[in-house]
Order: sequence, then C-alpha cells, then structure tokens
Amino acid sequence: MDPSEFRRHGHALVDWVADYLSASPRPPVLARVAPGAVEAALPDAAPEEPESFEAIMADVDRVLVPALTHWNHPGFFAYFATSASPPGVLAELLATALNQQAMLWRTSPAATELEAVATGWLRRLLGLPATFEGVIYDTASVSTLHALAAARQAAMPGVRTHGHSGTGRVYCSEQAHSSVDKGVALLGFGLEGVRRIAVDAAFAMQPDRLAAAIAEDRAAGHVPVAVVATIGTTVTTSSDPVAAIADICRREGLWLHVDAAYAGPAAMLPERAAAFDGWDLADSVVTNPHKWLLTPFDLSVLLCRRMDVVREAFSVVPDYLRTTDGDVKNLMDTGIQLGRRFRALKLWMVLRSYGAAGIREMLREHMRLARLFADWVDADAGFERLAPVPFSVVCFRACPASLQGDAEGLDRLNERLLDRVNATGEVFLSSSRLRGVVTLRLAVGNFQTRLEHVARAWELLTRETTRLLASA
Ligand code: PLP
Repeated sequence: MDPSEFRRHGHALVDWVADYLSASPRPPVLARVAPGAVEAALPDAAPEEPESFEAIMADVDRVLVPALTHWNHPGFFAYFATSASPPGVLAELLATALNQQAMLWRTSPAATELEAVATGWLRRLLGLPATFEGVIYDTASVSTLHALAAARQAAMPGVRTHGHSGTGRVYCSEQAHSSVDKGVALLGFGLEGVRRIAVDAAFAMQPDRLAAAIAEDRAAGHVPVAVVATIGTTVTTSSDPVAAIADICRREGLWLHVDAAYAGPAAMLPERAAAFDGWDLADSVVTNPHKWLLTPFDLSVLLCRRMDVVREAFSVVPDYLRTTDGDVKNLMDTGIQLGRRFRALKLWMVLRSYGAAGIREMLREHMRLARLFADWVDADAGFERLAPVPFSVVCFRACPASLQGDAEGLDRLNERLLDRVNATGEVFLSSSRLRGVVTLRLAVGNFQTRLEHVARAWELLTRETTRLLASA
C-alpha cells in the first residue's frame, strides 16, 4: 500500500467508522449468526497473491459485520456496557500508526512517561493519594493477577527464588469476580486457596466472617496472603465495606486489593463517596477505563501503593535489555509482559476530550437512567427487583402472580423472556443467578444510551412477558 493509497483507504475507512458510530437504523445488537458461519465463509488458507483493500473491506461487510455483537450500540445492556468513544477510536488509530513498544524508557520515552501522566491524572480524579503509582495492563483480570503476585511476594519473600508449598489463602466475597479464582490458581495456591466470604442482605462481604476465616486458616497452618474487596461487584454492583476490611488487613498484615473494575470511575462523584470509603488504605486498586470511562478495549489501570513489590516480583533484566539511561522507569519491570503497546495515548486523549465535567455528566446520566428503570420495575406488580441499585445496573425479574411460589417456573419464564427480548435485536441484556434464582440484568454504560433506549428495553420486557404468559 503506497502512501497515496493509504490516504485514500484511510479516508474511506474513517468515513466507514463515522457511519458505523451513527448508524440509523442500528444493526441488531446481538449477532444473529449460527456458530461456525464466519469460519465457513472464509478460505482455509491465506492468499498467495496480494488482495486489494477494497476486496478485504468487502469481506468485512459481507462476513464479519453480520457476525458482530455491537458493544458500542446504545441498546447494549448486557454484562457491563462499555464505550469506544470517538476520541478513543482516533487515539487507537494514532497509537497503531506510531507502533510504540514501551518495554524500556528508551524504546519509547513518550509512551513510558505518558503512562505515568495519564494514570496520575486518573488517580487524582478518583481521589486517591499520590502514593499510588499507576500501570496499564490489558484487563482487570491481569491487573488483579499482578496485584496478587505482589501480595504473594510480600507474604512469602522467598517465593521468587524457591517457589512455595502452595498453602497461601486469598479472601474475597461470594460475589467477587472469577478473575480472583483464576489468579489464585495461576499463582499456585489452587482453587482451594480462594476463600469466599459470605455476604449480607445487600451482597456486601461480612467483615466478621472474614476475620473468622483468617483466624481459622492460621490455626490450620495456611498462609493468609491477600484480601480482594470489590467496589461494584459483577452481578449486583454491591460494594464491600472496604474501610472495615482495610482494618482487618492492617491488623493481620495482609495485602488489600480493591477490585473497582467497573465502578471505579464513580469515585469522581462526591455523592458516591461512601462506596469508596477506605479504598485509599488499599495496597492496590484496579479500575477499567475500558468499562465505564469511554475508552476502547483494552485498558485496565492498576494503581498501587507498593509498586516496588510488584517490581520485586517481576523484574528480570537480561544483558540484552540493559541500558545506561540512569534513573528511569522501565515498564517491563512492572509485569509479566515485555512488549507493551501505547495504551496510555487513548486514556490521555479520552480524559482530555471529555474533561472531568463531561465524564461526571455521563456517569450521573447513566445512574439516573438505571434508577428510572428500577422505578418502573418497582411500580409493576408483575416484576420485582432483586438487588439495590448503587450505580448503573439493575437486577430484576418478571414474577407474575400466576407463577408466584413456582421457583422453576419463574426461572424458565425469565430465561425465555431474555431470549425473546434479545431476539428483537433492539437491546441485549444478560442474566445471572442471585441466591439461586435467575436474575435479569440491565447495565447502562454506553455513551450513546439515552432515555429512549432504556424505555424501549422496558417496553420490550413488558410486551414479551405478556405474550409469553398468554401463550403458556
Ligand atoms: N472485576 C470485576 C468486578 C468485573 O466485573 C470484571 C468483568 O466484568 C472483571 C474484574 C474482569 O474484567 P476484565 O474483562 O477486564 O478482565
């Protein structure tokens, strides 16, 4: 592709993306293809001869677009809704063209130092003290793995040289994300190394149960290593009482990692401060700008008060990576990966493009829409809410009078309701289980989601419930 062709295709592609971001009508939010359709539509082998960019884009339209689930769709209410905001999309284009690889300061002074700047801005916006240093990874799962590896290093200083005997214990609530299990298993403590602590009526960890579990484990000869407290759990967005948990961690000498992968940005709102009480006492905090902070996948920030311990766990400097740059930070020392791309650029561009005021406005609007939806659920005798709504997610289910007391019937109805509503292509919701029963989840979080989209979701839910009950 010569420079003039690049310019031509580049302009066409930006037009394609601009049309995609504002498409009307919108494509179905949930892909409607059968498993295997994409593989079947593409050749088994790469072409021997070069193909034109037009031909390649034609296959994007023909084969890939119908198989996209549109995470950037305003009707996306599943899991945690996210946003690839236009400034973030442009930043990705620029970062890719610049092709920075910031393993060492000298291999990209710009990417290395911008990462410190952008994570420093984020830390300040979240109200965390300057003792927290930031590093960018791809996902919260990886951020948490690094935090737990640092916790293991702190609890078992010989681990890096000699390995360990596998009796470490990590504590989190019953509602914590599965990334804790994956991390603990990978660190060699086995899944038995995770102790899930019971939650209260609001799905928050019970600190007295935590203290009891730690005492029990010590008595049994295990090594308590870390507690993962969550602010904004995956299903209900409940928050653990971090201040009380921090107190226990301090007393017991345990690493406290706070998982605020989704809810972290809400710390920018003074009215939500209570949920974050005590998180400044943590050893590490993870939040994902790729969830609720307008940044395209993938960008997770680990803010850590003990980055020296992270470096102690991970730094290995072979001769071929030694430099004479002096007292600089080499990002390869803060994690498992050597090569790393220029992710900081999109966070920096997003924070500048929206400004703190623009971000706060979006967060507040998403929470307002979720509360409105919760009010509609509460006001309808045929539905019930299954959890409080502290942020922008509502857990609820249909519970018509005709099925009251029929637990299996209610689960079946809600599973079918979810399929019916998602089949409309207008919205996409997901489900989980809470205290054994199927819950539907509506998660507001896309930058283009407006009242009309949330209202349409409610309309479809009530319409399809009526139809299902009529056909029963
Ligand atoms: N922590 C929480 C609370 C989550 O809800 C999620 C995902 O939704 C994760 C961690 C994992 O996020 P990631 O996909 O960035 O690994």
